[in-house]
Amino acid sequence: MKKAYNFFAGPCVLPEQAIDSTIDALKDFAGTGIPVVSISHRSKEWENVMNECRQLWRELLGIPDNYHILFLGGGASLQFLYVAMNLFEKKAGYLETGVWAKKALKEAQGIAKSRGLASDAAFAVASSADKTYCYIPKDYTIPTDLDYFHITTNNTIYGTEIKYDMDSPVTLVADMSSDIMSRPVDVTKYGLIYGGAQKNVGPAGVSFAIVRDDVLGKVSNYIPTMLDYRTHIEKESMFNTPPVFAIYIMTQTLRWLRSIGGVEKINKINVEKAEMLYDEIERNRMFVGTANPEDRSIMNVCFVMAPEYKELESNFLEFAKSNGMMGVKGHRSVGGFRASIYNACPVSSVKALIKCMKEFEKQHTK
Ligand SMILES: *Cc1c(COP(=O)(O)O)cnc(C)c1O
Repeated sequence: MKKAYNFFAGPCVLPEQAIDSTIDALKDFAGTGIPVVSISHRSKEWENVMNECRQLWRELLGIPDNYHILFLGGGASLQFLYVAMNLFEKKAGYLETGVWAKKALKEAQGIAKSRGLASDAAFAVASSADKTYCYIPKDYTIPTDLDYFHITTNNTIYGTEIKYDMDSPVTLVADMSSDIMSRPVDVTKYGLIYGGAQKNVGPAGVSFAIVRDDVLGKVSNYIPTMLDYRTHIEKESMFNTPPVFAIYIMTQTLRWLRSIGGVEKINKINVEKAEMLYDEIERNRMFVGTANPEDRSIMNVCFVMAPEYKELESNFLEFAKSNGMMGVKGHRSVGGFRASIYNACPVSSVKALIKCMKEFEKQHTK
């Protein structure tokens, strides 16, 4: 089989172990003789997977008992609407740190508008749009009269990250799509944590939501059944057919994470990988990092060609590809390069990319 170094931003690299056990389960799930995609989601065997998956989440992130863990369809983009539907009453603030944050805000603004509220009922408390989202805003105060304050902990497209758990005077809501399980998190600081699985905990098709009990039930408007977190809490994510295959692979992915030592261990490795790559970007004359150094992400490393080598951008992409590097192209909205080095991206991939950058430098500079 062809050796590929996978730097795609999502769907992305998953642990080999998770892929292998999934292949087995596609033939024979839990000794039933039935493929995992064909077994009833009401079977005992499937119920065991759901329970194990929830248990792994609880254990790995230290999620307290007053939080529910949900597995839902529709991706993180539908969660943007879930948040507004379940928590928005009069006023909501968002930290606008990138495209995803903006999209999340848009949903709350749509809900506000549909209820005849002022156009600023859902608003950006602070924004880094002035500098193409290359930093995380710091000089702002979270208003105390908000229903909730929404942050995007890792900006997948621009490569910036909020690497700590902030204090908030109001319910803190976090889209952690692209850095969930990459570091230990103090869950108690958040009212709601959600995200799509396909960046760090599984394949596309399932999203997760970790909801504190007391944040729900406070809005007066009707919430459509499928968009009401309480529906899914009551039925333990089985109100309707859950995305069984995606949940299965997520469970295998979390098993792997536990087997290597959990989030504290993976965080050390992630920081090492990121530092290695950022060091090379800084050292190498041909490349420049785009994110503010103190805010840069340990998951998505964004960089561009140095101005004097600008015309070699496509050459580097081709060179990288010919050496087996997949997905190093930057997001279509920003260009340049992005190496997504999620949990399952091995150190050896990062080393291979660095080698590639060094070789390219040798070829093009004297
Ligand atoms: C990828 C991503 C999303 C969108 O996820 P979908 O599951 O494709 O809707 C939202 N937020 C962040 C931070 C992301 O990285």
